[in-house]
Amino acid sequence: MKIPMSAPDIGESERQAVAAVLHTPRLSMGPQVEAFEASMAHYLGARHAIAVSSGTAALHLCVRAAGIQDGDLVITTPFSFVASANVLLYERAIPVFVDVDPRTGNLDPTRVAEAAAGLAGSSAARWLPRLGAERPGELRAILAVDVFGQPADYDPLLATAQTHGLSLIEDASESLGAHYRGRPAGRFGDAAAFAFYPNKQLTTGEGGMVVTERDDWAERIQALRNQGRASGDSWLQHTYPGYNYRLDEMSSALGQAQAERLEELLTKRDRVAGWYQEQLDGLPGIELPWIAAETTRMSWFVYVIRLGPGLDRSRLMAELESKGIPSRAYFEPIHWQPYMVERFGFQVGNFPVAEDLGRRSLALPFSGVMSGEQVEYVAAGLREAIERVG
Ligand SMILES: *Cc1c(COP(=O)(O)O)cnc(C)c1O
Repeated sequence: MKIPMSAPDIGESERQAVAAVLHTPRLSMGPQVEAFEASMAHYLGARHAIAVSSGTAALHLCVRAAGIQDGDLVITTPFSFVASANVLLYERAIPVFVDVDPRTGNLDPTRVAEAAAGLAGSSAARWLPRLGAERPGELRAILAVDVFGQPADYDPLLATAQTHGLSLIEDASESLGAHYRGRPAGRFGDAAAFAFYPNKQLTTGEGGMVVTERDDWAERIQALRNQGRASGDSWLQHTYPGYNYRLDEMSSALGQAQAERLEELLTKRDRVAGWYQEQLDGLPGIELPWIAAETTRMSWFVYVIRLGPGLDRSRLMAELESKGIPSRAYFEPIHWQPYMVERFGFQVGNFPVAEDLGRRSLALPFSGVMSGEQVEYVAAGLREAIERVG
């Protein structure tokens, strides 16, 4: 058996929706993008939903809307996909990484509060990167990430943002459909970014969405995604220097068809995660995902286990690969990426919890279209691989 690492869940309604667009002359800036935005706004109960060309573009536009610029400080997590920190580098801002909660892998809100207070005082250097922050600007924002489909701990993060007058940006790229204390992910900060790459809960191929309650941010983001055209600008008038971050009509139609099936898509993923839980529960040498009490609904993005001490991850991955089972070392901490080390002088030991998770995490094949038989095959393969390697 050869198991894919992930697979999109595409049905006949998606194929028909995309094909229908190709029978019209409108391939961009038409009714499909409007319909997709309206359904996401409705689903999340949000005032504005603005479709863009990727999750990274969505995050970048949130950073721009927050007014983050050269030298500004932004508290964020080193345990994430690189895009959440790269969007700060796009604006020459300085990421102030803060270590994560060892159970969820999300930002540790207590440390975030300490960092925000510390950066305002005489111990600021303790929180800043060793290099590249010689003339730090002001602390402007917190950029939190909902890791693996589980929302960050927003109540204390919001309290810290309010105390220090910071924007809160939510990277909800992995958490569409999740709930924190009964409220949907993407509804906690000044704005949230969603992503629709093919391995996400909902896909448009490439695509993303900004969700916000703020009219001023929405207006700015709508202009910036469309070459800086403010509302009322003609095609060749550009109030701002903007980008082409638009989502096309084919992708929007695909997104809209997926949005109509969203509950089904999430339920199928939930079922696959449940099978893993059943099959792997009690297996010595590994820990299964930990769901916080505040996560009143989990939205499974990936299925990531942690290896106990003494299990060599590379050997385990090679064993699995030999059985046709791919796996990923998920996440490599952002501060260990070569360009981050070069620019900011990060060192091993800077963020020990993120580093420990980075060393021990292993993502197993996961998607809503996995069969029970495939999950059993992976679980059996993992059991055998652990016996051999352990
Ligand atoms: C997927 C993802 C993104 C970026 O999404 P793209 O659509 O690939 O640009 C950003 N942050 C996190 C945490 C993600 O998982």
